[in-house]
Amino acid sequence: MTVEAFILALKEAGITLTEQQTTQFEQYFNLLVARNEQVNLTAITEQNDVYLKHFYDSLTVLFYEKDLNIPGKTLIDIGTGAGFPSLPLKIILPELKITMVDSLQKRVNFLQDVVTDLGLSHVEIVHGRAEDIGQNSKYREQFDYATARAVARTSVLAEYTLPFVKIGGQFLVMKGSAAQQELADGQKALATLGGTLRDAFDFSLPNGDTRSIQIVDKIKKTPKQYPRQAGTPSRKPIG
Ligand code: SAM
Repeated sequence: MTVEAFILALKEAGITLTEQQTTQFEQYFNLLVARNEQVNLTAITEQNDVYLKHFYDSLTVLFYEKDLNIPGKTLIDIGTGAGFPSLPLKIILPELKITMVDSLQKRVNFLQDVVTDLGLSHVEIVHGRAEDIGQNSKYREQFDYATARAVARTSVLAEYTLPFVKIGGQFLVMKGSAAQQELADGQKALATLGGTLRDAFDFSLPNGDTRSIQIVDKIKKTPKQYPRQAGTPSRKPIG
């Protein structure tokens, strides 16, 4: 997807990029590729691929959860890596308050540099594991939204994300072709952690790759024993 196709596809989805936003995506791309020479951030470095598979793909969640638009909403992105999906969302929605979590210090350092260079505000970057941070009252059940892309299967991801979501908030699940199977396998985890599926949308990226976005409502508090110790959710998923 060329930069021009990216701009056009967003326009068709009702999002008109400002000049500043277009420049911010360009800066982000340049920083990503430059730093990737020293630190492993992504396997995707070709410009058209970054715009499609990182930038556009991250923004698809906004097509299906329009309330992200409401100024002042808070979103936590677990296992954000080089900033996906939260940084593209932040560029489009300057009033969204984002918290980015990753367990790898080198990626956290990169994120700090991007945030500074792009002049973004209301961004918090946290180094650590979701299992530990989810037990910290500063973060627990504090967010309107939690999301995570390419971090774990849904049954595991639910334990990484739902503890952060306040009642009435949402866990936004972003998945590829295994979405339905992962959802079926994750039903027990979602229910145990206080979530229930509200909606699911299947669609394709412009290159034909299939995607699914599932919106899980947080309807009950997460029991105190979750998230369990670091490593346990992936070793012994609920269910
Ligand atoms: N979300 C990004 C994306 O879509 O490009 C990065 C995906 S990368 C495959 C997974 C990231 O999750 C890595 O940066 C890793 O350090 C982080 N991660 C994995 N398990 C984690 C955990 N339990 N807590 C925090 N970060 C975690």
